Amino acid sequence: MRSVIPDYLAEVLRDVESNTSGQLADYIPELAAADPKRLGAAFATVDGEIYGAGDIDTEFTIQSISKPFMYALALADRSFAPVLAKVGVEPSGEAFNQISLESDTGRPFNPMINAGAITAHSLAGSEGMNPTERVERVVHGLSAFAGRELRIDEAVCVSEMEHAHRNLAIAYMLRGYGILTEDPRAIVEGYIRQCSVLVTARDLAMMAATLANRGVNPLSGERVVGEPVVRQVLSVMSTCGMYDAAGDWATQVGIPAKSGVAGGLIGALPGQIGIATFSPRLDAHGNSVRGVSLFERFSSDMGLHVMEVPAAARAIVRSNHVLGDGPHAVRVLQLQGGIGFAGAERVVREILNTAPAEVRVVLDLTMIYSINDVARRMLLEAVRRLTLDGHEVYLVDPESIVPDPDPGDGGRVTVVGVLEQAVISQHKVAQHRSRPTKRGT
Ligand code: GLN
Repeated sequence: MRSVIPDYLAEVLRDVESNTSGQLADYIPELAAADPKRLGAAFATVDGEIYGAGDIDTEFTIQSISKPFMYALALADRSFAPVLAKVGVEPSGEAFNQISLESDTGRPFNPMINAGAITAHSLAGSEGMNPTERVERVVHGLSAFAGRELRIDEAVCVSEMEHAHRNLAIAYMLRGYGILTEDPRAIVEGYIRQCSVLVTARDLAMMAATLANRGVNPLSGERVVGEPVVRQVLSVMSTCGMYDAAGDWATQVGIPAKSGVAGGLIGALPGQIGIATFSPRLDAHGNSVRGVSLFERFSSDMGLHVMEVPAAARAIVRSNHVLGDGPHAVRVLQLQGGIGFAGAERVVREILNTAPAEVRVVLDLTMIYSINDVARRMLLEAVRRLTLDGHEVYLVDPESIVPDPDPGDGGRVTVVGVLEQAVISQHKVAQHRSRPTKRGT
């Protein structure tokens, strides 16, 4: 059998191919020489599988798609406070090259517009790095996101630098406000080198998948940045990534995204996939026309909108029943799925509503595939309260989904591998009780 995904991608590319509207970016002359017919789309899963159709191995410059990654590197290299002090997180609702600075402080609104990105560039690497070392840090960091060594397109770089009046103006303003502390020209040059890094749609999909995978590159396994950094970056991508089209994008597509004027577009769907498209003609916002159409299709065809509500937590309690009778009766709550706060609340409420009369209460986690921190703490607290109410509580947890369960302060729990071990005779239970928090065999 052939995978269904490349065929789907090829079909969607065919559907948008005839759309030749939009213009190549011509304020960077070298970009005006691009082949407008190029069209490609790639998906990278969080476990490193890549699917693609069309021109996914054609190199083009990353341009503004470098901004979220640059922001990530600045946050990782300098920590949050110094970066937030110099770059805000508010959508500007304006074009990418607008001189949008807070009126009193001169702080750029966000790191996705040029003013904020130039500032973020100046914050990459350790303090005191010279411009050349900083560019090395940036190219190395972008390469880690992509999982291969990337290089700079010198021709595009020179071409942009020759026409960088606006970015230079922005940088001089930022220097005037003390947001930049070095030679503005050198920083703009570094920023433009960052924008001139060559990537393919395949690379971009992997870079986006690294964000979708909590900062770990799915192929190399390298942790590029920490989880708090990824959360910050994805949040800013979702509110500011598409400039003055951010609201339209958030409602129509609903995937944290970033576009670049060479025609690239990425989306990172947390925990699922990284998506990249390439098509050089741009709309009035500077976003790829066919890229936007492709993302609209992907989002609606595959239910990828981040606000699409997942299956309700009520399905967490698969069954609630009693095994045996008389003094040997055991109350069993069989749980299923992934548990977060809402799922744990549902379990706690189920226990309350049941008010089990049985001494032994079993929470069967065999069919739970994930449990987050708050849900784990809530379940253990429920276990503690059940113990204080006089119950003997068992967790059936064959895969240690709750490692080292310790309900604390007066709570006791016996962990077993299969349900039968929790419903065996009182005699055997007594043996288990002597090792209250150890796993049964
Ligand atoms: N290097 C470009 C610039 O600063 C990036 C712009 C973009 O991709 N939106 O103008």
